[in-house]
Amino acid sequence: MNKRKEKRLKKLKKQRMWPHIFGAVFLLLGTVFVIVIILGTYCANLFEKIISMETDEMQQVVSLIDDKWSRGELTTEEMDEVCENIIKVNSNIEGICIMKDFYTSEGVVDFEVSYKYGDDVPGYNQESITYLYSTNNVEIMLTDDGDSVLTKDAVDLNKINWSTLFATQENLEDARPPLGYAKVWYIIPTQYTYDSVKVCIKTKLTVEAYEAEGVMLALTGVSLLAAFIILYHICSIINLVFKKRRLTKIVYTDVITGGYNLQYFFDVGKKLLRKSIFKKNNAALVTLRMEKYRNFCSCYGTRTGEELLETYYSKIKKDLDKNELVVRAEKGDFAILIAYSSEEEIIRRLSGIVKALENVRPAQKIYFSVGIYRIKNKKEDVSKMYNLSGVAINAISEDSEDRFRFFTDKMYEDQMWIRRVEDDMERALVNKEFKVYLQPKYSPKEEKLSGAEALVRWIHPTEGFVPPFRFIPIFESNGFILKLDDYMIREVAIQQAKWLEEGKEIVPISVNVSRIHFTRADLAKHICEIIDEYNVPHDKIELELTESAFFDDKSMLLNTVKKLREYGFAVSMDDFGAGYSSLNSLKELPLDVVKLDAEFFRDTDEDGRGDIIVGDTIALAKKLDMKIVAEGIETREQVDFLATKDCDLIQGYYFAKPMPLDEFEQLAFGKKPVEEKQ
Ligand code: C2E
Ligand code: CA
Ligand code: CA
Repeated sequence: MNKRKEKRLKKLKKQRMWPHIFGAVFLLLGTVFVIVIILGTYCANLFEKIISMETDEMQQVVSLIDDKWSRGELTTEEMDEVCENIIKVNSNIEGICIMKDFYTSEGVVDFEVSYKYGDDVPGYNQESITYLYSTNNVEIMLTDDGDSVLTKDAVDLNKINWSTLFATQENLEDARPPLGYAKVWYIIPTQYTYDSVKVCIKTKLTVEAYEAEGVMLALTGVSLLAAFIILYHICSIINLVFKKRRLTKIVYTDVITGGYNLQYFFDVGKKLLRKSIFKKNNAALVTLRMEKYRNFCSCYGTRTGEELLETYYSKIKKDLDKNELVVRAEKGDFAILIAYSSEEEIIRRLSGIVKALENVRPAQKIYFSVGIYRIKNKKEDVSKMYNLSGVAINAISEDSEDRFRFFTDKMYEDQMWIRRVEDDMERALVNKEFKVYLQPKYSPKEEKLSGAEALVRWIHPTEGFVPPFRFIPIFESNGFILKLDDYMIREVAIQQAKWLEEGKEIVPISVNVSRIHFTRADLAKHICEIIDEYNVPHDKIELELTESAFFDDKSMLLNTVKKLREYGFAVSMDDFGAGYSSLNSLKELPLDVVKLDAEFFRDTDEDGRGDIIVGDTIALAKKLDMKIVAEGIETREQVDFLATKDCDLIQGYYFAKPMPLDEFEQLAFGKKPVEEKQ
């Protein structure tokens, strides 16, 4: 997966849900905090206001009572009348009493009620007294309806324990919780008596409804706004969850089969491998390929092709365990994660699947290839395993009957080598890493050097000496051989021209021309132009064509051979007798030279059959006016035999191996390169 795609997927998976969650939580806490602060500040101020207003009023009441009572002008009944009038004026007042405190013989403060209006007296004793407010000799005592002391904490005006105060009112039936009124005793010392006489007034501290409602409204506003924003965050979270699910589905769905896609396979495969089915069994990653899918689509239409893949997908899925996995990977490829106990068993299972797929359209011959990667390390990257199963598929040659392959390390090394060669070949050509080696050809009788074949060697900067069998087949499959052969023809022409200029008596050098050149109509002209750049006589360069080229495009080959000969180049048929050789090619191709393949001389020839074939082939070639070169000659006996059969030239290790140009120079012209330098 490329980096950008991976990044996008990661982003999708993250989906930034946390900011919304944090936002909602912070907002909730913030709102509660703000409400508490507003409520607290408001109530504190409100209570302070109420108390100070009420306190002024109570002072007046006390001075009125004190004035009358301390002068002793009033009887209790008259006092009751005064109190009744006071209560009429101030309906908040519920009780009035006058008390005197004194020390008992035990030294404890006690109280004596000298007058009371109503039944209430404050539960006023030193241990249980609760002062809400105590300043300027005015004491305010919190009370509940039974006048019992509620709390022991003394409270000054700035630290009014308003919550305790109002909380108590929840017990009162007509209170409007949480704010309504609080009942308190005002205990105020008289001014005119010197004894510790106090006037106690029980009154209600009332919070006006509209004030409370104002606050409530403000708080409701704040709460609603907060609730709205919190709701927004919650909706965003829900939306994100759904969006994420939807997007994940899109990202992981294969549009053709409707099943999962390769991305899902890579992401989930690893987790699947932890399932017990893969713990109890071996695991394999299989690539199952419908060959020539594009070709099928061209013939029957893309729609039909896609429908076919969809059917294949369902069929494969049906044959798998629920913990095994199949996805369509690309074109007609399916990636399968499968459990198996033995190699026979997996082949049996996969063959069964292939059979089922073949039966989908029995009228059409559809080929399937199967690459199997045996998973050794379940923690390995799934995409890597998938690629290795693909390497196994690539190792199946087109014409192979057996279309199942297990991945081997060797396959991987081969593939890596092909990659390496393809990465390096252009650079190698520019840097002249390809070197011309020459293998001499000798006449068997005089044993005289009479020709040579140019063979390429790659002197790789890191790999060192690389023989042609390691790169020529790769160049043939990717077309680079066209450039290499041109390069070799040019290098040989340059060398021949150089030797000619030096007055050397040069021998013909043959150059290999790969069969894939014969797709080119102007090949002969093209070769001629290269050689003519260096003014080398055409009879000093020979072209070796492999016999197999004859089976590709006969007329093209024939044309090229004719033209090359018209230009004066000798043309030889290389590797005659190897592979699918046909005497017909000798009949149809007007060639100058036949090169007998080295295979003729490889196997032991006890009953002399090989000798007969070689001898008669030479005789046949002679009759067709062709020269014969025997390749791969390694022994004296072979040389002697070929001499008796009138073979024209011998190329083989017996005389010489392919050698670098300077060595050849020394051999052919007897000149030491060291001397030349001097
Ligand atoms: P080829 O054209 O048949 O070349 C002859 C091969 O036989 C050479 O292998 C040579 O080294 C080898 N040989 C020669 N004498 C003996 C012998 O006595 N015993 C044994 N065992 N082998 C002998 P090389 O150089 O490895 O080349 C292999 C093939 O690579 C060549 O087969 C040719 O098909 C291809 N090739 C080499 N150079 C070029 C090139 O420049 N262009 C093209 N298209 N193909 C080339
Ligand atoms: Ca050759
Ligand atoms: Ca050959």
